Amino acid sequence: MLLYQSPRQTIGTYQRGAVACAKCQSPIYLRKLAAVAEEFSVNCPRCGHRKVYAAQMINIETLPERRRKPRR
Ligand SMILES: [Zn+2]
Repeated sequence: MLLYQSPRQTIGTYQRGAVACAKCQSPIYLRKLAAVAEEFSVNCPRCGHRKVYAAQMINIETLPERRRKPRR
């Protein structure tokens, strides 16, 4: 694991936002954080429940970029 990052190099981490589905509590991940308005509606990928969420409900995580590993 790298213990330092170049300040100019932002590639290597990404931000992920998630809200919990009001119905089944499964996380709904949001990719376009910059495009999120104060309120937005999303469909739960698991149960399909659609709800309007407030932007302040988003939990933003900063994660290291992962390379996809082939799964079997
Ligand atoms: Zn759900």
